[in-house]
Amino acid sequence: MGNWDIGVFTSIDAGLGVKLEVAAELGIPTIQLHAPHRATRTPESAEKFLARLEELKIRLTAVFGGFEGESYADIPTVERTVGLMPEATRASRLQEMREISDFTRLLGCDVIALHLGFVPHDTKSTAYNDIVEVTRQLCDHANRNAQRVHLETGQESADSLLAFLGHVQRDNLCINFDPANMILYGTGEPIEALQKIGKHVRSVHCKDGTWSDQPGVTWGREVPLGQGQVNMEKYLRTLLAIGYRGPLTIEREIPQEPERQKAEIGSAVALLTSLRSKVLG
Ligand code: MG
Repeated sequence: MGNWDIGVFTSIDAGLGVKLEVAAELGIPTIQLHAPHRATRTPESAEKFLARLEELKIRLTAVFGGFEGESYADIPTVERTVGLMPEATRASRLQEMREISDFTRLLGCDVIALHLGFVPHDTKSTAYNDIVEVTRQLCDHANRNAQRVHLETGQESADSLLAFLGHVQRDNLCINFDPANMILYGTGEPIEALQKIGKHVRSVHCKDGTWSDQPGVTWGREVPLGQGQVNMEKYLRTLLAIGYRGPLTIEREIPQEPERQKAEIGSAVALLTSLRSKVLG
């Protein structure tokens, strides 16, 4: 499991992560990867990517699915466009996640992850049962590839997530905990949420944010790590308390400003490195 190796969210040709080279330049030993476009998900490109990782001595810890047509412009748009929730694209996106799972296997990685989208609150509704079923199908496919499926947090409260995991009933369904998302979406105080769902958390994002003045209606604001309302030291202490020792994956989504993005990720590495020695002693 490692001992809180630093990580960073990266991308090849799709998604908002930084380039692999940025991780290498900053000496970051692990990455999560946004799944590349379909045309890039070939055995040849998997082999090339693996060779590059080996050369840079970087370990891949998870592959995140994302889809054409998703937009995080505002909360209602997320509800309409993100993940496996929108009905019109559900079947094709499930199929794409299966393909991403297969590609992830070629990369020798045992975790796929995604934002499911806004799970309906009425657990008796058809829409809720449909998303439970589609999640089971994804988990079962991943299981055949010896993988876990990690749900990115944000769109649900801790209680709703726990109920959802209980309804899906798949051992390989876990959580990628993103503390800033709880604040940005206004779904709950992140430390409290982490304590509640701790035993299901198998990967994490290190991201910070400030609350909106209308939580759940408008976005909070993503800010550099340590400058928001997560409380990073308390975050690490809580991760220690729940027994989490996996990578600390930094996520900073400002791809339109690559220089600033790199500088801020560098500062985040420094902050996490120092807090890690303080907390682990
Ligand atoms: Mg995240």
